[in-house]
Order: sequence, then C-alpha cells, then structure tokens
Amino acid sequence: MKVKVWGCRGSLPAPGPENKIYGGNTSCIQVMHGEACIILDGGSGILRLGKYLSPEITEVHVLLSHLHMDHTMGLGFFAPLYNPKITVHLYGPSTSNEPLVNRLRRYFSPPLFPVRLSELPRHPIIHELNTSEFKIGDVTVKSDYICHPGPTLGYRLTANKSVLAYLPDHELQMGSVNFPNDPEWTSGFEIANGADLLLHDAAYTSKEYVSKIGWGHSSIRDAIAFGKMCKVKKLALFHHEPIRSDEQLDQMLLDSTQNLKLNFEVEICAEGKTYDLG
Ligand SMILES: [Zn+2]
Ligand SMILES: [Zn+2]
Repeated sequence: MKVKVWGCRGSLPAPGPENKIYGGNTSCIQVMHGEACIILDGGSGILRLGKYLSPEITEVHVLLSHLHMDHTMGLGFFAPLYNPKITVHLYGPSTSNEPLVNRLRRYFSPPLFPVRLSELPRHPIIHELNTSEFKIGDVTVKSDYICHPGPTLGYRLTANKSVLAYLPDHELQMGSVNFPNDPEWTSGFEIANGADLLLHDAAYTSKEYVSKIGWGHSSIRDAIAFGKMCKVKKLALFHHEPIRSDEQLDQMLLDSTQNLKLNFEVEICAEGKTYDLG
C-alpha cells in the first residue's frame, strides 16, 4: 500500500508560513494498492488530491471517519465528483436516526454549499458502515465505532499483510476508564493492533487535555501509550491544533517523548509525506 498525506491538521485549515513543514490542510489520506484508490476523509486536503489524481483512475472510494466539518469540508471541491467518467463511492458511519445520504445532503445544499448531491453529474454511491469488514480491490477494510462525539469510525486497511490504522479523532481516556491498562476494553484497539502505521489523534499536550476532557481528542502522551499497547511499528501523530506552529509541534514531540524508552517510531504527521507499506 502506498499512503500519501494530503492533510493532517485538525478542526480548521491553517495555512501560513509558520506551518510549512506539517501543513495546514485538514484530514485527507490517499491509499493506493493495485487498482484500488482509497481516500480517508474529505477534509480540505482532498482538493489537491483531486487535482493530482491520475487520469487513469475511474473509481475512487472515500471513507469518511465522521461528518464533522474538518473531515467533509473538501468534498464539494473534489474534482472527481464533477467528472461523469469517475465513479465515486462515499462511505460513512451509520446511525439509527438518519440515513447517511440525508446527513451528507445537509452539507451539499444551500446555504452551506450551492450544489446539491442530486445535481452532480453522477450521484456518488453511498455506503453506510458500522462494525464492518469488506474488500476494495485487494485491500481489506475493517471499520469500527470509536470514542468521539457523534458516530465516528476508525479504519483498518490491510493488504499483503501490511496494516494501516486510521484514527484521526479519538479520545482514548473517554474510551476506557482504565486506560491504558485494558487493551480489550480500549476504544480502537482492534483497529490499531499490530499496525505497521498508525495515524492517531494527538491534538493536545497532557496539560491542555485536563481542560478539554470530553471534547473527543487525545493528548500526545495518550496516543503514544496507545501505540505502545497496540505494538505498532510506527505512530504518526495526527489532527494538529490549527493554532500550533511547526516549531511548537516539534517542541511538543520533544517534551512528550523525553525520558520515554520507545521500541517503535513516533513522528509528527506531515502533509505531503508518503509511506510505502509492505
Ligand atoms: Zn477532526
Ligand atoms: Zn471530529
């Protein structure tokens, strides 16, 4: 699997000279494997992904973790949705009270957006997911609900025994009263267990987290503890606060990993970065 980061910022795009290294676009990851083109989330990063998408691709699969704005705001600007030659599949979390297509229509309608879903040249194919497992080409996709306000899925993508785990918005402390001591009772454990690469929410410092409990995000220390629990090979810290500069992110990582003996790699996820798994 070839993985490319098109956006790893949280909450709001944050372009600017102070964010050149880690980037300002919100959540969007591209995964290519054989014929399969899979996109994780439709944050503002999906605009450039669409611009540089190979013209040979005729089918794309967009897996939405949840429908918060920072994960969907780029969808209306995703070029393949306006190209009748490309089939777009949109996947997202199922809820008991409203179909996914209705929730997506709220974004694709005035006054939030001028174009309705029904006005696109080719209506995207909508797939509702819960605790699901299915195939896209040769990639096995597993989804499961994780701890974040509103229905939210984490994704585990497996191909040729390589595993990518994607948990961009995830509050570990709220997912288990005994975190990090009970793996089987920890939200997201089955998604991330043994992953080659884990992209995980690390929005806050431990100090900041104290005043943000219940907001749906994790501290960098908790993300690292989770990576250790799941025995991942590499952890890329994700969902950077929009206010945080490159310099501050580097300092955060330094402060949080000092005196820690880690047997896996931890880095700050950066827009433009590619990973080759397997
Ligand atoms: Zn988010
Ligand atoms: Zn969210």
